[in-house]
Amino acid sequence: MSTPRRFSIGITGGIGSGKTTVADMFAARGAALVDTDLIAHSLTQPGGAAIAAIHAQFGASFLTADGAMDRARMREYVFAESSAKARLEAILHPLIRIETERAAQAAQGSYLMFVVPLLVESRGWRERVSRVLVVDCDEQTQVRRVMTRSGLPEAQVRAIMAAQATRGQRLAVADDVIDNDGDADALVPQVERLHATYLALVADVPPPP
Ligand code: ADP
Repeated sequence: MSTPRRFSIGITGGIGSGKTTVADMFAARGAALVDTDLIAHSLTQPGGAAIAAIHAQFGASFLTADGAMDRARMREYVFAESSAKARLEAILHPLIRIETERAAQAAQGSYLMFVVPLLVESRGWRERVSRVLVVDCDEQTQVRRVMTRSGLPEAQVRAIMAAQATRGQRLAVADDVIDNDGDADALVPQVERLHATYLALVADVPPPP
């Protein structure tokens, strides 16, 4: 008999929307976070689970001296060689799925929250979570936050945003929305309210009004 899937939230939002900030606030209240970006990153670190396959598929020149994937080189190659992206994803995606599942099994907390930057863009994620929580803000706010955080020029930030789902596409699949156009204090009551809702749902009792 298969184990019933645990109640889980998938939290997403565009770059700079504040999903990491908000996810950390849920974690501080007892949610167990599984961050798919961190998992993806760890796969291509020295000794990571994807390194042997990357070596076999692309060759040693795509690894750094310490045995990590050479990100800069891979980025250039994937940009120039159209089949390379699919070949890299064919290695990474199944491993991300396995490692995410493993992390979820091990996670301790009052409920499970998957941090998935590209949840709306990726097939399969919506079916894997009980609810989708979107952290939303206007595009100008996103641009400003990312420019401040990373120092990237506006055009580059906008190019990243253009490659992601639109604000409308994200909101269309949201069960819950946190508005992050205000300051950090404005997040607290929204997080508190949803946290209470999630605790009620995980206990299978009606959520508070
Ligand atoms: P994401 O994970 O969606 O890319 P982050 O949570 O990393 O977004 O937030 C992007 C940047 O904006 C970070 O530097 C963060 O500290 C800042 N930030 C997020 N929310 C707010 C807010 N409400 N007020 C001020 N700064 C914020």
